[in-house]
Formats: sequence, C-alpha cells, structure tokens
Amino acid sequence: RNQANVRNFSIIAHIDHGKSTLADRILEKTQALSQREMKEQFLDGMELERERGITIKLNAVRLSYTDKHNDDYLFHLIDTPGHVDFTYEVSRSLAACEGAILIVDAAQGIEAQTLANVYLALDNDLELIPVINKIDLPNADTDRVARELEDVIGIDRDDVILASAKDDIGVDETLERIVSDIPSPAGSSENPLQALIFDSLYDPYRGAIAYICVREGSVKLGDKIRLMANGKEFEINEIGVFAPNPEKRDELTVGDVGYLTASIKNVGDTRVGDTITHAKNPAENPLPGYKQLNPMVFCGLFPVNSGQYNDLREALERLELNDSSLQYEAESSQALGFGFRCGFLGLLHMEIIQERLEREFNISLITTAPSVIYEVEKTDDETIEVENPSAMPDAQLIKDVREPFVKATIMVPNDYVGSVMEIAQKKRGEFITMEYLDEVRVNITYYIPLSEIVFDFFNQLKSRTKGYASFDYDISGYRSSNLVKMDILLNGETIDALSFIVHRDFAYERGKHIVDKLKDLIPRQQFEVPVQAAIGNKVIARSTIKAMKKNVLSKCYGGDISRKRKLLEKQKEGKKRMKMVGSVEVPQEAFMAILEMD
Ligand code: GDP
Ligand code: MG
Repeated sequence: RNQANVRNFSIIAHIDHGKSTLADRILEKTQALSQREMKEQFLDGMELERERGITIKLNAVRLSYTDKHNDDYLFHLIDTPGHVDFTYEVSRSLAACEGAILIVDAAQGIEAQTLANVYLALDNDLELIPVINKIDLPNADTDRVARELEDVIGIDRDDVILASAKDDIGVDETLERIVSDIPSPAGSSENPLQALIFDSLYDPYRGAIAYICVREGSVKLGDKIRLMANGKEFEINEIGVFAPNPEKRDELTVGDVGYLTASIKNVGDTRVGDTITHAKNPAENPLPGYKQLNPMVFCGLFPVNSGQYNDLREALERLELNDSSLQYEAESSQALGFGFRCGFLGLLHMEIIQERLEREFNISLITTAPSVIYEVEKTDDETIEVENPSAMPDAQLIKDVREPFVKATIMVPNDYVGSVMEIAQKKRGEFITMEYLDEVRVNITYYIPLSEIVFDFFNQLKSRTKGYASFDYDISGYRSSNLVKMDILLNGETIDALSFIVHRDFAYERGKHIVDKLKDLIPRQQFEVPVQAAIGNKVIARSTIKAMKKNVLSKCYGGDISRKRKLLEKQKEGKKRMKMVGSVEVPQEAFMAILEMD
C-alpha cells in the first residue's frame, strides 16, 4: 500500500439529486460487492432511511480501483447524512476527506443543501469534482445548471462532468477524476496518532464502535488509546476496515478509514469529531473542529397506555446507546402522567426517534408539541433555561426572554418570492438578502426564530411554493423577544401538556385558533366542556364542546348486528390514541394542534 495512491472522498448533494445511485455505480465498478450482496443503494442501510430516502448513519467503504494507466488505487468513500439536522456530522465526515464529488440535478439545479454542503466542503479545504447528474431526463437543462455552478460557486464549466448515474454515463470519468483531482492524505505514519472519529454506533456485544480516519500516525490491535475530549483510556480489542463489510486488520495507518472497538461501554465516550491518540506518546493537540452537540428541539413523549412506561424507558435507553445526541429525562405531567422530556437535534431527528419507538418497540405514544430552549432572565437576576413551556415562570417574575434564531436560506423560482416573503413575515422573519442564482431562481435569506421553524414552517413553505422551495438553516444565536406563555384549560383545568410559548403580537390570533381547533378535535363527551386559552389569569379566547346527544349505538337498536360491530370497531380505533385528561378524553392530534395554525 502506497499512501500516494489513497483517495478519501465523499459525495455531496441535495436530497434526490442522485447521491445513492452514483454511489451504487461506483461500488459496482470497483467490485466492492459480490452480486449476491449487491442490493440497491447499499449505503442507505436502515429500513427507515430507505423509506424516507435519507441517510442518517454515516458509512465508510473501502474500494479498489485500477485507473486507465493500470495503476492501483485505494479509495475510501465516506457517506454523509443528507439533512440539516445532521450538519455537524456532515462536516466531520468531510473532515475525513481530501475531496468531494458535488452532484447537482440537471433538471433542478443548485438547491439549498447543495450550497450548505459546498460551504462545509470548502471549510474543510476539499477539492470539488462537479457532476451534473440526470442528463438523461427530458427536462434536463445542462447549460443553465452549468452557468449556475459557475456564477454561484465559481466552478469552471470545463471542469463539470455530465452524467447519468442511472444510465451509467460519466461514471468512469468521475472515477478517473477522483484519481487525478483529489490529493492523497497528507499526514505521516511517523507522527503521534491522530484519528478522527466521524461516526460511532453501539453494539450490545462489542460496545461502542468508532468509525475513524487516521490523519497522523498509525494504530494497532492491542494499543492503549486515549479519547482526547474526555481523557478516558481504553485498549483496542478489534480494528478493521469496511470492504464494505467489516473485516478485521492488525493495523490502520495514516490515510486509512475503518473502525475500532475497545470495550467502550458508553457510546457517549466516542463523540463524533473527537480525536483518538495513544495513551503513550500522545499527540499534542486534537484535530480541529470538535464540538459538543446540544439538542435544539424538545418534546414530551408519553405512553398512551401508562403500563408501557417502563417499555418506553428501556426503548429510550437502547436508542440513546446509538445516538449520543438524543437526550431524555423523566417527566410527569398532570395531564398525561409519567413520560419523558426528550431533546433532539432538530425536527427530523425527533420524527425519526418517535417513529422508531413506535415501529421497532411497539409503543403507542402521545407526543406533545415541540419546543425550543428559552433563556429566561428573571427579576431576581437569575437566568434559567426553559425547554418545557409549562415550566415558564409567571410573567411578573420575568425581566427578559431570549429565544434561538436561525439564518434560513430558501431557494425558489422567482414566481414564488412573494409567497416566501409572506410566510417569513408571518413567522417573525427579519429579511437579510435576496440574490438571483440565474434568470429564474432566487436565493432568499432571513433570520427567523427557531420556534417558528418548528411551528409548521416546512409544510407551509412546501404547500405555498408547490414543493419548489428548498430550505436549509443554521443556528445564529439568541435574541430577546416579547414572549408569553399561553395556557389551555379544558373544563376549567389547565392542561400542562398543551401550554405553549407565543409572541405577544400573535397571542390573540393563536389562542383563538387553538380553542376552535380543539373544539373540533376533541370528541363530544357526556357533558359540555369549555375550552379556554389564557395568559396568566386572563382568558383571551373560548369555545365550547357540546355534550353528546345520544349514544351512537342506540340508533342500531335491535337491528343490524354487523353495522353495530362496525361502529364499535370504529370507536375502538378512534380510542387508540386517546388519553383521559381529568374527566375529558383527548386525542393525540389535540396535542399537536398548535403546530397547524393555518
Ligand atoms: P439521493 O437522495 O441523492 O441519494 O438520490 P437517489 O440516488 O436516491 O436518487 C433519487 C431519485 O433519482 C431516484 O429515484 C433515482 O432513481 C433517480 N436518479 C438518480 N440518478 C438518476 C439519473 O441519472 N437519471 C434519472 N433519470 N434518474 C436518476
Ligand atoms: Mg440517498
């Protein structure tokens, strides 16, 4: 093995532009997989990922390639997740590379995540290989997209590969360009060890498995290693590469990409972005770019059936083993009983965890509306973090409330600029810039409160732009806002799980909207139920759920048995996600009602 013949690279693209398809072609051509193993889109492993067409877990595959001069090369293809929630993981996996293939769809052009990924690649000094994919499509507009690449990213037209991953056009050229354009890894095997952890996962038998890229030095089976973020030391009991299935080795050296295990019980010890060095003769400094990831979005998860509380706790423990950015702590709600307050990197991360709990662990959940972390400065000068709206102090105890803002990047055809601005305005956005990418497409940036992004922003953007908008965001910091807590009362009782934080200017409108919505969502009870929205002691909106008129079954009295059974079944179905809250039966949708405001 010759270090000069190693190429470490990644593929970056907006979702659906063809990353997995191109990766498959590359895998086929480098004969990494036998026919039997070759299943479609190898890199997207998990079932859930496949269904949603996204990549959550990073992967690294070792490939061998013989170029047109008959020289042998060792490629490491490092996969990156494709969603804004996982930006940090993307940046760390790019840090393991010297180059990246940049894919842009020939019919779509540059999208929000194309740019976000390009910035991450440039931050990491990567060589870019631009590929315009899907040139086989009848509506491909290769010229326009090439011009966009030139104008927006500064890529020379002559450097662009025209490809169809589907029809195997341009794939051979891409492989040659990996050899000619991407530099080999720079480090030296003589230096003290610096291995970057760019992913980790948990195996119940072997403990944490760290995915690593050796940037300096080399590392052997049996070595005593140190994790530089927390100083903990472990002895390596397995080390290997992905070819693409895991294969044991005795040693990894500079430029190598692979994995190691060391009886590390807690996956939180192998943090993405951390540096592994030797306990003896350690590196002086860790590799740059490590940061501790903090959850940004919180919600309550409660079992529909309180008997499943322990199942839920065990399931969360299991999921946390594989996901050090998932946080949870026990929470008890007067309305919903015992459950957990959980923290996530973003909305997609939250949905993925909820879905896995239900699918893989068979737990039926009531989830409360997501919330962000507010910084609350109280009149006694203490500053607290509030991640659960029901914990917001009373208004008279508050001096200042600050909330996280994001810098949002939205790209749309110019016909939709008006709609985007309208949504951004309604979401308390502060305009930053608007730039034309080409004659028809516009890049708009805004500062928007993260809480407003959480409140149904994606869906509104999608529907108002007929799906043509793409969207990406970065957290930009905390700012003061005039925020108040809104309580919801059912039958005169405050329902803690329905409280939410709202800007004072929107309080009346949202309060009115939610009481009307709850009136429709909550089924009629035997008695009349008033629904109220209140700020402090002041009720600002009210509606009434009328009492049930008759027992539905009395209509089929004596008669048609099958109709009666159908009704019973329907009622049972409806009951699945119901929760008795005080004396009122409340369905799951009610807890999400504040998310759908239009
Ligand atoms: P990813 O989200 O970037 O991984 O995109 P995928 O590789 O999953 O591709 C998204 C969709 O585009 C799939 O339906 C692919 O079959 C399709 N696709 C990928 N490459 C091409 C191509 O070169 N031509 C055409 N027509 N479709 C393609
Ligand atoms: Mg994919």
